[in-house]
Order: sequence, then C-alpha cells, then structure tokens
Amino acid sequence: MKEIAILGSTGSIGTQTLDVVRNNQDIKVVALTAGSNIEKLEEQIREFHPKVVALWNEKSAKDLRKRVSDLPVEVLAGMDGMISCATISDANIVVTAVVGMIGILPTIEAIKAGKDIALANKETLVTAGHIIMPLVKEYNVSLLPVDSEHSAIFQALNGENPKEVSRILLTASGGPFRGKKKKDLQNIQLEDALKHPNWLMGRKITIDSSTMVNKGLEVIEAKWLFDIDFEQIQVVIQPQSVIHSMVEFADGGVIAQLGTPDMRLPIQYALYYPERRPLPGDRLDFYKLSQLTFEEPDMETFKGLKLAYLVGKTGGSMPTVYNAANEYAVAKFLNKEIKYLEIIDMISYALDSHQYISDPSVQDILEIEQETYHNLKEKWK
Ligand code: NDP
Ligand code: MG
Repeated sequence: MKEIAILGSTGSIGTQTLDVVRNNQDIKVVALTAGSNIEKLEEQIREFHPKVVALWNEKSAKDLRKRVSDLPVEVLAGMDGMISCATISDANIVVTAVVGMIGILPTIEAIKAGKDIALANKETLVTAGHIIMPLVKEYNVSLLPVDSEHSAIFQALNGENPKEVSRILLTASGGPFRGKKKKDLQNIQLEDALKHPNWLMGRKITIDSSTMVNKGLEVIEAKWLFDIDFEQIQVVIQPQSVIHSMVEFADGGVIAQLGTPDMRLPIQYALYYPERRPLPGDRLDFYKLSQLTFEEPDMETFKGLKLAYLVGKTGGSMPTVYNAANEYAVAKFLNKEIKYLEIIDMISYALDSHQYISDPSVQDILEIEQETYHNLKEKWK
C-alpha cells in the first residue's frame, strides 16, 4: 500500500492527484493541506479520510475544525501544520502541489524525514535547487517530476546513460499570445491572459504560461533535475502541446514523449514509477492529428524567458529574486492592480536593484523573497 501526503490538495494538481488515487486501489491519503479553501478540503476529508490536514490560514483551520468535529481528523494550521503533514510518519510519498516559494520549507523537511517527493511545485527547485538536490542525495530519497515537460524528459531518459545526453528540448505551447509583439500586449486584460490554449491549470501558472516565465522557471527546474548546463537546454515552441518534451542524445537520436494534455499521466507516473498503470482518458489519434509544428521562441517579446536563462546562468540569489518578483507581480496582476507588461518590468527592476549573493541559505532565500516584495511595494505605490 502506498501512503501519500498532498500539499496543496485543493488546487489543480492536488485535485488531479486525488483523481489518480480514486482510480487506484492500493494508494491511501494520509495528509492533505490547503491555503484557505475549507469547502473543498472538507469534501476531500469526507471522501479520503486523511489522519491530518493543515490550512495556511489560522481562521480557516478553526472553522474547519468545527465542520469536521464528527471525524477523527486532526486539523492543523500555518507553516508548522504544513510541515507536520509533509513529515507525517505514515507517508512514503509527498506530492508538493502548493503554488509558490511557500513550498520550500515543507519540501526540505519532507526530504529530511526520508520521503520521496513527487514535485509539481517548481518554484521550490528554482529558488533552492542548490540546497534541495544535495539533500535528495544525502537522504537517499527520490525526486520525481510532475511537471509534464520534466516528466516527459524523465520518461525519455529511462534506461539511458545521462552522460550520453547532448540536449534537452523543452517544449512550450507559446501560450495565448504566441506570435504577438510587445505593442500587441500593451492592453492585455486579465481574462485574455487566463485563456490558455491547451491546458487548464491554476491561475498563477496560467499567467506564467502567457508571459513564458513558466517556461523560464522550467528551464531552471530542468537544470537541477537533470544536472545539465543551460547551454544544453533548448526551448522549442510546439503549439499543439502534443510533444511534452524531448531528449537528444550524443548520436543525434531524439526521444520524445507524446500524449494528450492530461496532467494525471505525469502525476500517476511519478507516484508509481517505474510502473505504468492503466489510465482512462483520451488517446492521441494519429489519423486525425493533421500536423505537429515547431517554432523558435521570441525571447525579445517574451523577455521573461530570456531573463530566466540569465538568472539561471548567474545562479546564487538571482533565481530567487526572479521568482519572488514574478510571484509578487502576478498576484498584483490577478488583482487587477497592475498592467500586463508591468509583470516583466517588475521582474527586471527587482533584478537590477538586487545585491547578488553567491550561495544563499534557506534563511537568505526567505529574506530575499521578503526584500524583493518590499522593494517592489516601495517602487509601485
Ligand atoms: P492552484 O492555484 O490550482 O493550487 C494551489 C494549491 O496551493 C491549493 O491547494 C491552494 O489552496 C494551496 N495554497 C495556495 N496558497 C497557499 C499558501 N499560502 N499556503 C499553503 N497552501 C497554499 O495551483 P496549481 O495546482 O496549478 O499549481 C501548483 C504547483 O504545480 C505550482 O507550482 C505550479 O507551477 C505547478 N504545476 C502546475 C501544473 C498544472 O497543470 N496546474 C502543471 C505543472 C506544474 P487553496 O485552494 O486553499 O487556495
Ligand atoms: Mg509544465
């Protein structure tokens, strides 16, 4: 029996992970966490019977405690609550599906508690990859990618010698504004940016996909997961989102992973690796699939991708500033407090005004996050 804890169970990845649980008989949920969505968390508690749950918001935790007082579930709150769920002794796998840098501490503690990690929360690896990867080795746990591109790369690498990889070809849909130029993006409204052509995801990652910051975060995520140089990671626009990524080997051979856009596949693959389980759902119909097309990304219009390569290569504290500024800016854009193009302006400003640190500790990373928020708040009053 597999026992799992899901951090961020009420979100897009969290609910799809529970779908995978529903579809398999030998997996049990022992802990769940959310931010403040008590309605959904209560439903999940009644269906999956976890031993413990946690909410970020203390008041929500109090409310939930009353609502589930008929059940033997413990309801915790805050970071301590999330960490208790991430380290619960029963779980062998922790699915990290929270959004944002808030995932850093629970992920680190889960690794230290010897849990395998099914990682969706890319912001953790982007900002703290230099801390997480050595810990994964030290505690001898597995870090299994859930992000569809990284799962595709992981699948393509199965049985191969990593030394024989020459390039990772990280595919991107290009988002809703593919082909547009900066002048076309001046008046983009929130509703336009929330319309992803192929994937239905949480709001933050959907905005990140439209700016291509998501692909930038994924480039850095790939560097850490597959221990590869940035020069060997090439982003390829594949507008149909059928090829989820590819690996080119030393002999020129390219292995790709294809499929319909369904996150349950990478989630299930991470949970059951190396086993492949049946998964209901649509299949690719190659008779109907009229074309697969490819393009080079436009890094001048979508400067967030270019900046990601820059901060990734510089390393140290720069990816943290890039990510924190993006989290801050996207939250403002989701609240309709800034214009679309200001997301990238904010990231650029934060990077320009930051004093570089070469090997930030977890504490430094969390401080740099706050400092970045503070700088942006001062500048964009
Ligand atoms: P969602 O916004 O749909 O869900 C986020 C989850 O995190 C929810 O359970 C939410 O709880 C919880 N949460 C939000 N804020 C906090 C907080 N401060 N403290 C604790 N928990 C919090 O996000 P997604 O599922 O789309 O994305 C999750 C992660 O997976 C992201 O890092 C994303 O980049 C990555 N990812 C997502 C993909 C997708 O298809 N969605 C694909 C690949 C990667 P509540 O509901 O209460 O707010
Ligand atoms: Mg992805």
